[in-house]
Amino acid sequence: MKKPIYLDYNATTPIDPEVAKEMISIIQNHYGNPSSSYEMGRYSKNAIEKARKQIADLIHAKPEEIIFTSCATESNNLAIQGIAYKNQVKGKHIITSSIEHPAVIEVCKFLEQQGFIITYVPVDAIGRVNPKDVEEAIRLDTILITIMHANNEVGTIQPISEIAAIAKKNSILFHTDASQSVGKIETNVEKLGVDLLTLAGHKLYAPKGIAALYIKEGVQLQKLMYGASQENRIRPGTENLIHVVALGKACEIAMRDFDKNVNTMLATKERLVSGLMEAFGEKVKVNGDPAFCLPNTLSIAFDDVEAHTLTSSFCNDLNIATGSACHAKSVEISSVLKAMRIDFKTASETVRISTGKQTTFDEIDAAIEIISNKYRELL
Ligand code: PLP
Repeated sequence: MKKPIYLDYNATTPIDPEVAKEMISIIQNHYGNPSSSYEMGRYSKNAIEKARKQIADLIHAKPEEIIFTSCATESNNLAIQGIAYKNQVKGKHIITSSIEHPAVIEVCKFLEQQGFIITYVPVDAIGRVNPKDVEEAIRLDTILITIMHANNEVGTIQPISEIAAIAKKNSILFHTDASQSVGKIETNVEKLGVDLLTLAGHKLYAPKGIAALYIKEGVQLQKLMYGASQENRIRPGTENLIHVVALGKACEIAMRDFDKNVNTMLATKERLVSGLMEAFGEKVKVNGDPAFCLPNTLSIAFDDVEAHTLTSSFCNDLNIATGSACHAKSVEISSVLKAMRIDFKTASETVRISTGKQTTFDEIDAAIEIISNKYRELL
């Protein structure tokens, strides 16, 4: 069976062949426990420290400011809950945005049940947070601001450095979920001015099941798991050596190939947009603003055809995502599109197409044809 064209790189990415090669070498040759003091253990320990540096280099951090976790969800939990519990004597108020991934929103909802107070700042029509709204939301008991770097559904990039400056001015810690931005736009913790940053392996051509959390030197958080002293005594458990090495290599490649990858993602996305616009004009509508959007992400509505009907009509040939969840008898539109005040009809007709560093013009031309044929049929 022919493999469908894959244009859902925001959901996950394939493992880079160079990353896979490093993983295989570890699988076949190196199984020492990094905590063991003999040679095999030392090899594993050194491999972990090399990976830590590769990640730190990509985001302009120090290696000792990086800890490994199992996924972006865990990094977000550790950052948000960890800061909340550590600082609860100072205050119990946290600010976040209304367009965060569930890996942040659900943590905030859980903390609400624990007595914390959360302010969800709104976004404008293109999905951007206004730093002024964050400033106005600050209270005497605010201990943390957590706002994503770039949105997974629409691709909107947030004014993180402006918000971080406001946080700093008010002595409030600032966390950003950069799962979707690392490798796609510059993600430099110094320039952004953040205290904590989440990055995810499987959005970056490393495998699923590995992520990292940047914790700025001096920032203290309450750990969530108890055990041995791995990962700076913050995240216990024998390190996932194979995946740690993979994430390190993926970060090295992301840094080395950054310009090339961004050009590919952007050029293929732009070809797709112009192809669809040419074919359908005002029948298609792009959500968000290209000036503040990830180079690879396209949130686009096809007038008069429900997104699930369209995407499932070609799912054997082309894989893209919808911006809504389809239940038995009803369509539940995405909370991100809702927060952007996109009307229900447009939101239910919205699909997300995300290109990757491996996307080719041939794939895009084929995707335009597949989408166009089915859309015309369904209209
Ligand atoms: N944060 C963002 C912005 C994401 O896009 C995702 C995954 O889609 C996550 C967090 C969660 O990642 P994981 O499921 O790997 O924990």
